[in-house]
Amino acid sequence: MNILLLGSGGREHALAWKMAASPLADRLYCAPGNAGIAREAQCVALDIADHGAVIAFCKDNKVGFVVVGPEAPLVAGIVDDLEGAGVKTFGPSKLAARLEGSKGFTKDLCRANNIPTAAYERFTAAAPAKDYVRKRGAPIVVKADGLAAGKGVVVAQTLAEAEAAVDMMFGGGLGTAGAEVVVEEFLVGEEASFFALCDGENAIPLASAQDHKRVGDGDTGPNTGGMGAYSPAPVMTAEITQRTMDEIVRPTLRAMKAMGSPYKGVLFAGLMITKDGPKLIEYNARFGDPETQVLMLRLMSDLVPALIASRDGQLKNFDLRWYPNFALTVVMAAKGYPGDYSRGSVIEGLDAAAEIEGVEIFHAGTKAEGGKVLANGGRVLNVSARGKTVSEAQRRAYAAIDRIKWPEGFCRRDIGWQAVKREQGG
Ligand code: AMP
Repeated sequence: MNILLLGSGGREHALAWKMAASPLADRLYCAPGNAGIAREAQCVALDIADHGAVIAFCKDNKVGFVVVGPEAPLVAGIVDDLEGAGVKTFGPSKLAARLEGSKGFTKDLCRANNIPTAAYERFTAAAPAKDYVRKRGAPIVVKADGLAAGKGVVVAQTLAEAEAAVDMMFGGGLGTAGAEVVVEEFLVGEEASFFALCDGENAIPLASAQDHKRVGDGDTGPNTGGMGAYSPAPVMTAEITQRTMDEIVRPTLRAMKAMGSPYKGVLFAGLMITKDGPKLIEYNARFGDPETQVLMLRLMSDLVPALIASRDGQLKNFDLRWYPNFALTVVMAAKGYPGDYSRGSVIEGLDAAAEIEGVEIFHAGTKAEGGKVLANGGRVLNVSARGKTVSEAQRRAYAAIDRIKWPEGFCRRDIGWQAVKREQGG
């Protein structure tokens, strides 16, 4: 069958790399793609916000299956539109994607179904939100209800910070995403990302990962989309994974089905592993970036039948096999990121870097021009490696980075430090 993948980041390169290896994929297209994806798939210049144009492309090119990478098209209902036009599509419907599109929706669903999460209240005006902040005290967390490209959460250490966040959100600082606000309890524990594949009724666990959100070594500096990740997360033991499936993922699927909006696709649970067990911080309705880069390196089975089974409601007896190895990815970003950065600098040494054993380089913001690879975004490359240990994967990823010649770029030098420390008995 012909398959179309939507998106252009490192997540989509990792998905394209894995799907291109499937015997089920005759032609693999990616819209809009990037310079790395162009090695795995035929990139097409489609505006993926234009659902009509995506449908027309599918009809013209006999595309039998579409895989949606990013959240914005999901929340905008691209799955409903493609399915309505007779194109099988992997991912949640618009109503099901509310699990990511509205934090208040997800919190209410947790409350109604006894799913462990931080205590909270929802607000549509600043004054009552501030009253609640003062009543609960700091530290406290203030969240915009809607999609805010990673900028919608303020973990406030003081009351003043929390009140300023409330004012910023209701003052329009995040556009319509902040028209409603959730204020919630600050959870203490270790964070992990957990991924489950869902078919509306059944869920199978994929794998876990931990990411590094801060821009600087030692987890310092401003938040980013993610500067690196590794899988599996040591904190996600077999027991915690089982509890996450039983106490969080499966009750969510039951509730979504009962509501008439069954959830299909990847459910990405951001978790806090507290002393009382796993609690849900938030859901995302798609694969994570950069977590997918490490998940795909560890997946032994063919990805395509799993995605089709998710769409077809056939995951009940489905089984996926994983390499027992660790995988780690380091993001190389353009200097200045997550603030202003420039585009167009030349990146060299990628082939030599990829020769290191266990290494795969996934492209995020790149473009090809005149036979050269140019930086074309904030997060630019995901230098990824497998290893028998986290330390080995880390060593290989940094050995590859040391072969890349890109003076305008930078990366953190300590991705995976917690897991490496644990491994070394620290
Ligand atoms: P989110 O976008 O909801 O994943 O939040 C971004 C980050 O804020 C999370 O990865 C956590 O580090 C932090 N965070 C969000 N909610 C809480 C909470 N209730 N308690 C502690 N930290 C939180």
